[in-house]
Amino acid sequence: MTFTNEHGQGRDYPSRAVVDLAAIRHNLGVLRAAAPDALQLATVKANAYGHGLVPVALAALEGGADWLGVAQLAEAFTLRKGLDEAGVARADAPLLAWISTSSSDFAAAIESDIDVSVSWTWVLADICAAARQVGRPARVHVKIDTGMSRAGSTLADLPALASALRMAADEGLVDVVGAWSHMSRADDPTEAGNASTANHVRIFEEGLAILADAGITPRIRHLAATSGILWHPETHYDMVRAGIGLYGLSPDPAVASSSELGLVPALTLTAPLTSVKVIEEGTPASYGGTWIAPTRRWIGLVPLGYGDGILRAASNRARVTVHTASGPLDAPQIGRVCMDQFMIDLGPADGEADTPTARSGQAPAAVGDLAVLFGADPSPMADDWARAANTINYEIVTNLGAHIPRAYIGDADATDGTPS
Ligand SMILES: *Cc1c(COP(=O)(O)O)cnc(C)c1O
Repeated sequence: MTFTNEHGQGRDYPSRAVVDLAAIRHNLGVLRAAAPDALQLATVKANAYGHGLVPVALAALEGGADWLGVAQLAEAFTLRKGLDEAGVARADAPLLAWISTSSSDFAAAIESDIDVSVSWTWVLADICAAARQVGRPARVHVKIDTGMSRAGSTLADLPALASALRMAADEGLVDVVGAWSHMSRADDPTEAGNASTANHVRIFEEGLAILADAGITPRIRHLAATSGILWHPETHYDMVRAGIGLYGLSPDPAVASSSELGLVPALTLTAPLTSVKVIEEGTPASYGGTWIAPTRRWIGLVPLGYGDGILRAASNRARVTVHTASGPLDAPQIGRVCMDQFMIDLGPADGEADTPTARSGQAPAAVGDLAVLFGADPSPMADDWARAANTINYEIVTNLGAHIPRAYIGDADATDGTPS
């Protein structure tokens, strides 16, 4: 298996992220079955949620994704370049970047066939200037703020934006491809959550009516992300934008787990133990001595830390599975997670000799044994780290450093299904 990272080198980092592209394609199929009549946009922002931008985008296209979406224009440029280099025709890979700023290079976006989002008339003015410069219309998706209060035109501002869009379209400066929004509580099954989603839909409909009054009828209306796809069919419209589900994770494992949803987590994060040793009862581990050996213990050292994206907030609460010669061993993470490493408790060492070593034959694990931080069931999951760190699985995977060597398995083009 070839592992590479952002510097093109895999060998000298001990940790590994293995991304199963067959799982990505499978998850896309699950999401397509949940929204069979909608186009599928694969959301690959934030380095494809830590999984690797271009390989995941290619797998998503192979799995039948109709569109690709990122947040930042910079990501879109990188992605378009990667797709061009992979020989993917631009017409087969429409690409939307949804953060537009006053410093966005809209001319380059037009030239790279990247659709952009417009929420405000001042952004539209910049887009029109770029379209004049390039001599080609910009493809835009008008964003309506349906209750998230993030990007998007409020209904109060929308009539002005709509008439500006109408004029720009008449001048041949923009092609209004889409109208879209994003929901804030589609993962929340409570009455208040459902009321919020209903309100998003109502405001979206009002926004579409305002656009229609101005003569703007976008071809693609899109509102739902993964939780909308799974739990709110009325939000599917013409296209859906799957993110977390594509990676095999549930938008909220408390509502339904990955396996309950039929999703397969695509990324497995491992690192080999770099030390296995005994410490005496009462010995503290890591900064601040927040963990103290309750008895004489075997402890292991894992070469991953918060500099790699392992959240320090998970300290003393996460677990890993160590694959030892005698089988998998469940080991709690102990003491504070350091910048580059953390320790795990491998169990009591009561009967050991005075100066045992990892190679004494009595150790529960050996140097080099693989610790699995998270992956697909039944290993620990990103969900477990999220619970330990009091956050969401999105943050666990997105946080993984681009320097962690990644390898891709399950490539649809590989004849024998093994990684190249
Ligand atoms: C991140 C994001 C998505 C994907 O959301 P998931 O919950 O990961 O499916 C879709 N649309 C927008 C605008 C986003 O920011």
